[in-house]
Amino acid sequence: MLEGKLGMVFGVANHRSIAWGIGQALAGAGARLAFTYQGDRLKDTVSDLAGTLSGSLTLPCDVLDDAQVDEAFERVDREFGGLDILVHSIAFAPREALENPFVETTRDAFNTAMDISAYSLVQLARKAAPLMEKRGGGSIITMTYLGSGRVFPKYNVMGVAKAALEASVRYLASDLGPRNIRVNAISAGPIRTLAGRSIQGFTRMEEHVREVAPLRRNTEAGEVGDVAVFLASSLSRNVTGVTLFCDSGYHAMGM
Ligand code: NAD
Repeated sequence: MLEGKLGMVFGVANHRSIAWGIGQALAGAGARLAFTYQGDRLKDTVSDLAGTLSGSLTLPCDVLDDAQVDEAFERVDREFGGLDILVHSIAFAPREALENPFVETTRDAFNTAMDISAYSLVQLARKAAPLMEKRGGGSIITMTYLGSGRVFPKYNVMGVAKAALEASVRYLASDLGPRNIRVNAISAGPIRTLAGRSIQGFTRMEEHVREVAPLRRNTEAGEVGDVAVFLASSLSRNVTGVTLFCDSGYHAMGM
């Protein structure tokens, strides 16, 4: 479904990362991918994973470093000559902001969470757009969570950042739609990743989903990957500005 498509995937930290589940699914559907990693400490892990997919690239990119972001897109433009798919699977909040009551959130922690988890989508979309235009359009996909609209204990400032991220998806979809670039979010149920486990009470969240979600089970990264294949492919060519749930149906429940 994605034969000949070119993609960039931001947010692989290890084999459990949702970005890796998405990367494998996109590559399985035929896409050639560039994976970025944040900081040298992740370089070997991400290079080893990417090395299992033919034709893939790995490049450094910390979204707080504008020069590194510019270089990543320049390199992809040189090597690929354009871009069809961008996957944004990045989030961060300082630990204390996920431990203390939300009302205690400091300005610094608030700004950091918003910068890395929400603004970075705007930044990456702006850089991707000219490369996607060369290919006649593209698909931008980001990762969000139900905590954007409802309160989950200890999700705190990350919920605020996800609300901003989802609103950014709609504004970006409006700006970039005339250039045939679509922008959508996938709202996943709890998945046991590095970021997931940093939320206190994560195990309880998983248990709760198993108990009450319509499908009575948790979400797997590969299932999110399959939704990403749909959003990256021409099957979703009329879909933009949407938050699509991949959460065993949990979002539909009141009790
Ligand atoms: P993860 O820890 O594997 O991935 C988070 C990634 O963000 C890491 O690769 C990390 O390097 C990257 N990152 C953080 N700061 C960065 C920076 N300054 N520059 C570049 N990259 C940076 O965890 P994950 O669960 O795969 O998270 C991926 C996305 O999915 C996040 O947006 C997360 O909020 C979202 N999500 C996760 C779950 C879950 O339960 N795990 C559920 C819904 C949504």
